[in-house]
Amino acid sequence: MRLLLIEDEKELAEALSAALSKQGVVIDHAMLLADACELTRQNTYDAILLDRRLPDGEGLTFIPKLRRAGVDTPIIVMTARNEPKERIEGLNGGADDYLGKPFLVDELMARLRAVLRRPPNVVEEKIAVGKMIIDPLNMNVMIGSALLELPRRELLVLIALAKRKDKTVLRSALETAVYNYEEEIQSNALDAHISRLRKRLSESSAGVTVHNIRGVGYLLKEE
Ligand code: CA
Repeated sequence: MRLLLIEDEKELAEALSAALSKQGVVIDHAMLLADACELTRQNTYDAILLDRRLPDGEGLTFIPKLRRAGVDTPIIVMTARNEPKERIEGLNGGADDYLGKPFLVDELMARLRAVLRRPPNVVEEKIAVGKMIIDPLNMNVMIGSALLELPRRELLVLIALAKRKDKTVLRSALETAVYNYEEEIQSNALDAHISRLRKRLSESSAGVTVHNIRGVGYLLKEE
């Protein structure tokens, strides 16, 4: 899951980013609406977390702008102003959900999952591939009744490949699924994740093989 966090309180943004990355979420962070605008032009997000009071304007003004640009990414508005009137304004302003600060990261995750389950949002509930059942919303993989333990980045790579089973996934798309825009990506990092992932998949008889399409990307096939 890749999220755009638009929040000008640095400490809150850092704490949220840290907590969400532990849950396997890749976060891009913008302090200003102007930066958020630029990021939504360059990237596709599964969801956007939007603060209302931002240095360059009211967060709610960002929603119609995005929708006019054809971006239908679900938006959760968060604010310290958690009065009913503020919530109503937020929802009427086009937000998909509304979260009053302070909130628990678990509640945020639950609301994100709820928003992402609604049609026409794209995050599938579960992907069955080989002997695995992959749950992208809850970030886990089961083989039969056993949980397949995977480090976060390997799991993100696996989800990206499984969503496009039998199709080549470009290196750039895999990198986008795993890293936020601030992270330096070592040229061989992706290959290292794939190589460890392959080993784990084979050791656990997951019933899939990851093929290397040299210089282009990777492709996951059922055995
Ligand atoms: Ca603020």
